[in-house]
Amino acid sequence: MADDKTIFEKIRDGEIPAEIVHEDEHCLCFRDISPQAPTHLLLVPKRRVARLTAAGQADGELLGHLMLASATVAREQGFAESGYRVVINNGPDGGEEVPHLHLHLLAGRRLEWPPG
Ligand code: AMP
Repeated sequence: MADDKTIFEKIRDGEIPAEIVHEDEHCLCFRDISPQAPTHLLLVPKRRVARLTAAGQADGELLGHLMLASATVAREQGFAESGYRVVINNGPDGGEEVPHLHLHLLAGRRLEWPPG
């Protein structure tokens, strides 16, 4: 049978390693394997939603939880005061590579705007 788990579901299930920095009932946060800033974390819901445009009303609570969890992680990791950027890449033009919703948390340097 084809294994159609995303890489983030494999991390969630302990099938591939990741440096996990935060976990709660609904989400997991770990270091990006290819960091684009001194601190680059991925905040991933345990229940897979493919992307923002695949989310429905039933996912609203989970989406809110992820936003609040990003601030919890920022405080725990010490970059709440210095600041950070939250990025969601949605679809091909957004640069989405993994079809499992995730928030990029980028911190540790002054980020430019607009992004490339
Ligand atoms: P996106 O382009 O928004 O879908 O982001 C996918 C992200 O997942 C990229 O920043 C990758 O570097 C990251 N990534 C891919 N595989 C892994 C992995 N095994 N562990 C941690 N991060 C990963």
